Amino acid sequence: MGGFSSYDREKIKKEMKNASLDVLVIGGGITGSGIALDAVTRGLKTAVVEMQDYAAGTSSRSTKLVHGGLRYLQQFEVKLVAEVGKERAIVYENGPHVTTPEWMMLPFYKGGTYGPFTANIGLRLYDFLAGVKKSERRTMLSPQQALDKEPLIKKDGLKGAGYYVEYKTDDARLTIEVMKKAVEKGALSINYMKVVDLLYDDNHKITGVEVEDQINHDKMKIYAKKIVSATGPWVDEIREMDHSNKGKHLHLSKGVHLVFPQTVFPLKQAIYFDTPDGRMLFAIPREDKTYVGTTDTFYDGNIKHPTMTTEDRDYILKAINYIFPSLNITVDDMESSWSGLRPLIAEEGKKPGEVSRKDEIFISDSGLISMAGGKLTGYRKMAEQAVDTVVKLLKNENGILYQDSETVHLPISGGDVGGSDGFAAFKKQKVQEGTKLGIDEKTAESLVQKYGSNVEKIFEYYQEKQTEAKEEGIDPVVFAQLIYGLEDEMVFKPVDFFIRRSGGLFFHRPWVEEHKDSVIAYMAKALQYTDAQRKEYTEELDNLIYEALHPVDKEN
Ligand SMILES: Cc1cc2nc3c(=O)[nH]c(=O)nc-3n(C[C@H](O)[C@H](O)[C@H](O)COP(=O)(O)OP(=O)(O)OC[C@H]3O[C@@H](n4cnc5c(N)ncnc54)[C@H](O)[C@@H]3O)c2cc1C
Repeated sequence: MGGFSSYDREKIKKEMKNASLDVLVIGGGITGSGIALDAVTRGLKTAVVEMQDYAAGTSSRSTKLVHGGLRYLQQFEVKLVAEVGKERAIVYENGPHVTTPEWMMLPFYKGGTYGPFTANIGLRLYDFLAGVKKSERRTMLSPQQALDKEPLIKKDGLKGAGYYVEYKTDDARLTIEVMKKAVEKGALSINYMKVVDLLYDDNHKITGVEVEDQINHDKMKIYAKKIVSATGPWVDEIREMDHSNKGKHLHLSKGVHLVFPQTVFPLKQAIYFDTPDGRMLFAIPREDKTYVGTTDTFYDGNIKHPTMTTEDRDYILKAINYIFPSLNITVDDMESSWSGLRPLIAEEGKKPGEVSRKDEIFISDSGLISMAGGKLTGYRKMAEQAVDTVVKLLKNENGILYQDSETVHLPISGGDVGGSDGFAAFKKQKVQEGTKLGIDEKTAESLVQKYGSNVEKIFEYYQEKQTEAKEEGIDPVVFAQLIYGLEDEMVFKPVDFFIRRSGGLFFHRPWVEEHKDSVIAYMAKALQYTDAQRKEYTEELDNLIYEALHPVDKEN
């Protein structure tokens, strides 16, 4: 049934068309993936349609932190901090391969957002609200201790630093792992399938959707008892289709991040720092790169394609040189960038940075359920709330009862590694297995970190397909990942593989340039691209490689 292979698209479509669905989720970002997993594990017959690739919207373009949101304390969002803080521990436990603790340093300077006193109180409150475990509670550092941790920070006026734990993630892989688990549990899910119309009964109650396959442009109708829109920045577009875009609406705010090689930006320690204009940015080391962000500006351009402008880029460069004055970072040092849109719920008279990050559920007169706002970190809880709503409605309408959410203790795909405590031993053992197969230690480590317990499948493909990889002229490790992407992760276009499944474009741009021709040649053959498709998909990747480094000043 179902499956998650790009070779099975037609089969999945047929099953969706014929299924008697309880819930159809529109959108395959982290919100839609979370909802699908929660719903299917409660026994609801569930399907998901995503118009682009999974996580191609905001869920691959965040700061990539699973965090308690210290800064929300400044806005007195105590409940949000408490809830999201507790959730991050659950997200970590259920997927330690995609979530890694990262100590964060918050330096304070004369006249900055935080001083030693406010930071101490803030971080203490944060530990308390978020239920932070003892080994990860905050400490306070003297100016010298702060400089020992990170000699690159500005020395002038340094009064000390707060030191506390956040969690790093790969947002797109977190999304795909949640979706894979939903599919493993029985959900039907397909990408490149766009909702183009909504279907209603005689009483104007929503009963289904019309979708258009974005690959071959086939159209079909899918019916379900409940339709949930988890379309992030597109929530208002779907509400518009439903004629219910009234009252509260979305406010889109763009955030840009820049990426540098460690050779030019050798950051040792993650830093959360003040900008000259009184905002706060993150600088985070990741493998052999450092990334910095984010901006926060009102956006009304093409939702599918937010881009970095010269102003965005220069703003971040200026902030970097302000806090890391010895670096003299310039445009030429950049290796990549990305831009994303925060789907915030508008609040009259507030600036983007002050608008609440809270999630909300809207139910329209037709019965369309929309979930908007929120955070990557809180996805599981948000999903539970959305499905609680669905289940309540189904109970009222049909008297059907479903079990409670079970996702608190459910590892996501790749997360069967013995929990957070067991992951180090698991990793050691699998790295040994990988090196025995002839994979070098660093590569084996990064594969285990990326795929968790699914690395076994990567190792299998690596062994089985050595000859084929050679014939195709593709590096055998890249080939194993590609086969896994095609057969087990619904990779259809080159950008799916090079951006969302591997993080390549953001963190390993030279790797993308090295492997793209051979990978595209194989994909074209395996997925039977037409000449036009091959040209279009190659251009799409090439444009994004270009835009990762070059500003687009007229947003399209
Ligand atoms: C710059 C930035 C930094 C952030 N940093 C963090 C962070 O560090 N930590 C954190 O927890 N959160 C962070 N966030 C917030 C977080 O990324 C978002 O809350 C989250 O990714 C939203 O996910 P979503 O699934 O709701 O939306 P999306 O990921 O955008 O998913 C919506 C999906 O719906 C699909 N869709 C739309 N219309 C249709 C249609 N008609 N038919 C079918 N499919 C459709 C889209 O293609 C899209 O994939 C950040 C956000 C931004 C922008």
